[in-house]
Amino acid sequence: MPFQYIFGPVASSRLGRSLGLDLLGSKICTFDCLYCEVGPTRRLTLERRPYVPASEILTELKAWNQQNQGLSLDHVTLGGSGEPTLNSEMPAIIAGAREILPGVPVAVLTNSTLMTDPTVRAELAKADAVLPSLDSLRWEPLASLNRPNPRLIAGGQKAVDELAESLVTFRKQFHGRLYLEIFLALGVNDSDEDLALFREYVPRLAPDRVDVVTLSRPGAYAEAHPATPETLKHWRDALCPFCAAPAGQDNAGPRPGTAPDRKTAPVQGADPITVLEAVRASLARRPQTASQLADALDVSRTTVVSALESLEKQGHITRRTDQNGEPLYGVLR
Ligand code: SF4
Repeated sequence: MPFQYIFGPVASSRLGRSLGLDLLGSKICTFDCLYCEVGPTRRLTLERRPYVPASEILTELKAWNQQNQGLSLDHVTLGGSGEPTLNSEMPAIIAGAREILPGVPVAVLTNSTLMTDPTVRAELAKADAVLPSLDSLRWEPLASLNRPNPRLIAGGQKAVDELAESLVTFRKQFHGRLYLEIFLALGVNDSDEDLALFREYVPRLAPDRVDVVTLSRPGAYAEAHPATPETLKHWRDALCPFCAAPAGQDNAGPRPGTAPDRKTAPVQGADPITVLEAVRASLARRPQTASQLADALDVSRTTVVSALESLEKQGHITRRTDQNGEPLYGVLR
């Protein structure tokens, strides 16, 4: 059975084997980031609404769980096609996920914009892990890279200061794991001035980890370019000991906070049609290589390659080359 709001599990460098829940259903976000893998934002808003009702997501999750008994997960992750905290039924989704998947930690990805709302902070505090992103502490780079909703634009530097301080407030009330992500784009937010501000800010925030990342897949807009390896190393060195990876290493491999390896069952069994659907659904969320898909779906690479060949022949997916020269697959939009 194809699912509309469930994707994966995918192999996440930060969360291990993660089953994703899409709380928006389409690209609805407070930002329209140049580097977004989902594509341009269709609805740029700060309005919280039940964009996808909790009941619909939880009905799918129950069905998914019945079909995948015995499959181990490291996290169930609230995210999807935009900013998940925009869904006003997020608390019911967190509670429902815990009930349906007992013992599986709940993680929430957020771009931090709604953290200034105490209600949102209280809701997020119920998760086991929160992964906020904050790409700059200066208004100009943030406005260029994240392209916020006009109401945030009106706030300028004051809005960025409030957002950063609200994350610090959240850290004080949140007892789970907090993984800060900083996305660097060449010539936009990778200056020494930006780094100096984060050096002062990160110790005050006291996250469990900092991930300094850059573009590794095609973004929504051609203007975004990856930061250089030297810059990434410089930032990771500077922000250690909060860095996720030792200085100079790429952000790949197991991370603190991911569950140890456990016996796993194949995600979709040996049925080629089901694997095909799983591959297509996973690619609809983000472009991936065959190896990434095999890891995420817990099927052999040969099975994935065969599914990719069929999907390509049917004209459902595209192929391009990633930065390492590997074929990177995505769905036609
Ligand atoms: S990267 Fe995240 S915050 Fe930025 S537009 Fe995409 S979904 Fe929104």
